[in-house]
Amino acid sequence: MTRSPSDPSPVPIFDGHNDALTAGHHASLQDGGGGGHLDLPRMRARGVRGGIFAVFTESREPHHDPEPRPDGTYARPPSPRVGQARAAALSTIAAGRLLALERAGAVRVARSGADLDAAAAGDGPPVAVLHLEGAEAIDPGLESLETWYAAGLRSLGPVWSRPNAFAHGVPFVFPSSPDVGPGLTRAGRALVRRCGELGIVVDLSHMNEAGFWDVARSDTGPLVVSHAGVHAISPCSRNLTDAQIDAVAASGGLVGIVFACFFLRPDFANDPDTPLQQIVEHVRHVAARVGVAHVAFGSDFDGATIPAALGDVAGYPRLLAALADAGFSRAEIRAIAWENWRRVLGAWWR
Ligand code: ZN
Repeated sequence: MTRSPSDPSPVPIFDGHNDALTAGHHASLQDGGGGGHLDLPRMRARGVRGGIFAVFTESREPHHDPEPRPDGTYARPPSPRVGQARAAALSTIAAGRLLALERAGAVRVARSGADLDAAAAGDGPPVAVLHLEGAEAIDPGLESLETWYAAGLRSLGPVWSRPNAFAHGVPFVFPSSPDVGPGLTRAGRALVRRCGELGIVVDLSHMNEAGFWDVARSDTGPLVVSHAGVHAISPCSRNLTDAQIDAVAASGGLVGIVFACFFLRPDFANDPDTPLQQIVEHVRHVAARVGVAHVAFGSDFDGATIPAALGDVAGYPRLLAALADAGFSRAEIRAIAWENWRRVLGAWWR
């Protein structure tokens, strides 16, 4: 991996959430040159040795980035439900893209902790965790979950920000508590239990607060929120309250700090002029409250407007430098950038 003068340490980097598989430039993931926030050549060049690659099915009426009201508040109703047949059809295509990249030798699809360790050591291509963002592709009887596991699925968010058979996603509201709507359904509780048995991470991003506590009480594994921010800094429904952050830490889990501008900012403006320091503030809040072991990165590259100061995945060395400037030690940066994700994924995968 490269090392620039601003690069505080050539630590391996793991990014907890990207939407590149379903982005417009997905055909250029292997060779680059197609734009977007993330592709494999840019990951390799900047020491981003791993990431969670989401498979997401858009509602028929696509969602748009939030536009605040004149008074600065924002409320968007939950997106319409997506049927299982449509989600299953589209998700198999997007997952197939990742498996084709693996066949071409451009990524290693992570099926075990050893795959992560090999990537951290610089042995072979970057490692990619196959993730379902919203479980609409899974039948409520969970029979297709076996197929997905066999294909390499190792992480699953029961919901995106809409309801489905399993749970209720949190709608985008600002300002708002994440306590919007009911918790897991009976099928959702069975899904969480089965993910624990198989060794598939349950990701609580986009889950409302009732569902979060249902999963916390299930004691299935360390709580993982792959891409979210701190509610005490930006009080929107998608961010985590301090009580939730405490629960994540008590379980041994982590929060991947999201780089989406509106979730970072106190005013919820979707403004690319958001300074890099605003990401550092969210990292610092979690680290100061519950410890460095429970904070990591979860960019949302190719799924959100991110600070221009970061730009794209190639901006990661600037973020590590900003953390070093903020007083984080090399060992702490290494934990945030890689080791926390390694520990938590390994705990679920056994
Ligand atoms: Zn998301």
